[in-house]
Amino acid sequence: MTTAAFSARIGPTAQALATIKNRYCAPPSYAPTEQVQSHMDCPRCKSRLNFTVLVSGQTSGRCVASDCLRWSMQ
Ligand SMILES: [Zn+2]
Repeated sequence: MTTAAFSARIGPTAQALATIKNRYCAPPSYAPTEQVQSHMDCPRCKSRLNFTVLVSGQTSGRCVASDCLRWSMQ
């Protein structure tokens, strides 16, 4: 039961992270050459999801909808 709840909650975030990492953190550097500030459609609610990718390859993101996707330094 906890697994299902966990998956429902983590799924869209993992999906957004995968999309961003695939686009900006490709091998061999696994990081962008310059910091990226952009946005995409939120995989959960389809609103605007703003995100940042640091040159270290870490990402932070936040959906404009309240109580939706939000993460930092992953
Ligand atoms: Zn959202």
